[in-house]
Amino acid sequence: MVRKRSREVRKYPRIQITSEAFNLKMKIILLGPPGSGKGLFAQFLQDDFGIKKIATGDILRKEIRNKSKIGKKAEKYVSKGIYVPDKIVLSMIKNKIRRIKNFTLDGFPRTVKQAKFLDKVIKVDKVIHITTNDKNVIKRIANRLQCGKCNRIYNLITIKPRRKGICDICKGKLYIRSDDKIVKTRLNVYKREIKPLIIYYKKKDVLEKVNGNRHFNLVYNDIRKLIK
Ligand code: AMP
Repeated sequence: MVRKRSREVRKYPRIQITSEAFNLKMKIILLGPPGSGKGLFAQFLQDDFGIKKIATGDILRKEIRNKSKIGKKAEKYVSKGIYVPDKIVLSMIKNKIRRIKNFTLDGFPRTVKQAKFLDKVIKVDKVIHITTNDKNVIKRIANRLQCGKCNRIYNLITIKPRRKGICDICKGKLYIRSDDKIVKTRLNVYKREIKPLIIYYKKKDVLEKVNGNRHFNLVYNDIRKLIK
């Protein structure tokens, strides 16, 4: 019975911000490889608790779509699956995090240098490391879709949209991220940078680890417990 419940497909929306949630003043970082569910869980935290999702990848993709100055500079890095230079990313994120009290960072920081920069701007409350093996990463990315308008994440197996290719919430068009085709490169880049970052946050005593190889409902339950 319990197992069956955990296998339920979660449907958007889940927007149910409670009064308890309004007392949560948290600055959270989600760490994990591509496909570990960072974007999905950041979205759930936003829907359930009003904790704003800030995803540097989403911001960069929007800049690229808009062909802005930042977007033109960032495109060649994003399309190759390598990190965009700090000069671009740090100035882009600085103003956002200063203005918002409660947020989950998805995709930032990615290096110790970025983490040190962040520490100068804000105090981080919790860093949650979602561990996920390569096999799961590759399978999830192969089935991932994202809304081009509101950035919600879908999955052809676990979180299917009600209407094919259409976001349940904003009715935006779902698309396959072009860099999802180069997932192996992105995984290697991630593996190179993550160890020193984990050591950095361990020393600061803010690090929590969650096993991301399970059904997303179970992973999210653990994340919820950590932030309450
Ligand atoms: P994501 O959506 O987090 O998987 O990010 C997609 C791509 O955006 C990455 O492969 C990088 O090219 C770029 N990117 C996102 N966040 C950062 C960051 N904090 N530092 C450098 N590059 C980033």
